[in-house]
Amino acid sequence: MIKATCHFPRGFLWGTATSSHQVEGYNRGNDWWAWEQESGRIFQNQRSGKACEWWSGRWREDFDRAAEAGQNAHRLSLEWSRIEPNPALWDDDALAYYREIIRGALERGLEPMVTLHHFSTPQWIQDKGGWRNPEIVRHFRRYTRKVVKDLGDLVSLWVTINEPNTFLYFGYLQGDWPPGDHSIRRLPEVITNIVNAHVAAYEAIHVVSPDNRVGLAHHYRGFRPTNPRNPLDRWVARMKHQAFNNLYPQVFHTGWTKFSSFRLHLPQAAQKQDFFGLNYYTTELCSFNPLKPKQIFEAGAFAKDADLSPQGFIANEPTGLWDALRWAIRYNTPVYITENGTEDSGDDFRRRYLALHLHKVWRAVNYSWPVRGYFHWSLIDNFEWERGWSQKFGLWEMDVETQNRSKRKSADFYAEICRLNGLSSETVASYAPDVLDLLFPPREPAELTVDG
Ligand code: BGC
Repeated sequence: MIKATCHFPRGFLWGTATSSHQVEGYNRGNDWWAWEQESGRIFQNQRSGKACEWWSGRWREDFDRAAEAGQNAHRLSLEWSRIEPNPALWDDDALAYYREIIRGALERGLEPMVTLHHFSTPQWIQDKGGWRNPEIVRHFRRYTRKVVKDLGDLVSLWVTINEPNTFLYFGYLQGDWPPGDHSIRRLPEVITNIVNAHVAAYEAIHVVSPDNRVGLAHHYRGFRPTNPRNPLDRWVARMKHQAFNNLYPQVFHTGWTKFSSFRLHLPQAAQKQDFFGLNYYTTELCSFNPLKPKQIFEAGAFAKDADLSPQGFIANEPTGLWDALRWAIRYNTPVYITENGTEDSGDDFRRRYLALHLHKVWRAVNYSWPVRGYFHWSLIDNFEWERGWSQKFGLWEMDVETQNRSKRKSADFYAEICRLNGLSSETVASYAPDVLDLLFPPREPAELTVDG
């Protein structure tokens, strides 16, 4: 076996990511909580309930796990509905508790990256029209100001909004998430409010803490034509890439974007990201079926020969991460991979997935692309939105009833990578032997060997 190590730059951030509603428990004041009470919304009518009991203190033991496993960063989110349970009425105890959590991360050597909005919105805002009502911009600014005033001295990396594209698609077009809208016509106003909310938060953070760095976590999904020779398949792939991937990053870079006949000109949004947060999970194939043209709004299929996660939710397509990084660096800011991971209760697939994806990240840093950190989704199994508890994304397995945590092999694999600040052939040989030859080819290609 060849002995080699893919080294990462000094100071590279190695962490995991979580979000408030998925781990805290009993977030009764947000729209997801209300949504979960409606029959048929969540897989088997499951509920977030006590989640991973972080609000009752289990974040401590989970942060211990992360730190002992060599991680040096953690991405978490704040629950707006806890901090501001009623308009302009602040829960100072909640803020003090978040202070304790963030301090707890720092004390364990985990640099916090803090997200202000990760899919859940206070119900009192939803009752006033939520993200359809431009008032939300003012509310988001006020909430951000308060948070940064109270916690800004502990945090230097802020994500304002997680995956504005996924959030928009599921909540306002496809309708599986709250508020369950299906209106293409209303999308421009929702997008405008999301963009303006980010701008308001970006400015509010910089007024209080000019040195803080602010970005969004963009979800990039790879779209490839099923038949690259078919112009209609190519058109669908391009269209989805523009609508899903490009829309927001373009606005935050240039102040304008377009999608089909719809153009958005928001010059105030230009150059409003200090870093680019990139969430990447998978790549799909796109085709055009003239008998079912509406299918272009649905998720495409995976390649026939794809290596699929146990529930078929994710195809192991590391080239998509490479494409995503190449695409993200065009925006001329440092890049953090703010999420990447897979559901896999068995944990074999996850190890190959991790090895292959991190190898692409390594390739990117070796091209001197400004990739500064990687946050694996997720530290422990948690509440997976409309899929409830059915999908297991954690490095640690968690039993929802007993709350018992047990370490998956991937946790040890990732720990070796974090500690070494690199991916070595020995580590891959022990944890992901099926991709060893792919990442560390046993012999050089014939044309490069000395004797030909
Ligand atoms: C979201 C996470 C979610 C993960 C896996 C991401 O798009 O940001 O909240 O848990 O996907 O489903």
